[in-house]
Amino acid sequence: MMNLVLMGLPGAGKGTQAERIVEDYQIPHISTGDMFRAAMKEETELGLKAKSFMDKGELVPDEVTIGIVRERLSKDDCLKGFLLDGFPRTVPQADALEQILSDLNRKIDYVINIYVDQDILMERLTGRRICKSCGATYHLVFNPPADSGVCDKCGGELYQRADDNEETVGTRLEVNLKQSQPLLSFYEDKGYLRNINGQQEIGKVYEDIEQLLGGLNR
Ligand SMILES: [Zn+2]
Repeated sequence: MMNLVLMGLPGAGKGTQAERIVEDYQIPHISTGDMFRAAMKEETELGLKAKSFMDKGELVPDEVTIGIVRERLSKDDCLKGFLLDGFPRTVPQADALEQILSDLNRKIDYVINIYVDQDILMERLTGRRICKSCGATYHLVFNPPADSGVCDKCGGELYQRADDNEETVGTRLEVNLKQSQPLLSFYEDKGYLRNINGQQEIGKVYEDIEQLLGGLNR
């Protein structure tokens, strides 16, 4: 059994690592978005409730979100474990998760936090450039065009989306950092927190995660 929560700021590489973990360990990847979509599609009572808030453009209240998480974690495919991604986001949600798991006679094994310095996240998140003519995407660090500012494929002009500029990205990181800090402390106090250095090459980051998970009974 492998009950995991995955944390990391935008740009930390959480998505890539999540994909590998769920494939190698055959546990379901439970992201908040997927969970909501499934509950709405199946038209469960909670799914319909969540939809009524979303249709009005309102935030889904914690009690509804928590109910949906409870339903999801009670499903058979979670018997071997799960990888929670994007939940919990707040300490009250983390408290609720403790209660849900205790009701199911289980507990979190690890909260894996992939950490990367703010300035590196900034570089990763602001480097995207898009071609005005053909829509091809580049990254100044990871996939740079041969000629800066010009599309390799069609010669079109490259631009940066407003969402990718330093100010927007900086605000997004700030908000996420503020939100995650109390959660990290909560899990550190519980003894679940394991920090993984996300500044290494992707394969090396995964090796560190594998090494951590290798100690768990399965
Ligand atoms: Zn182009």
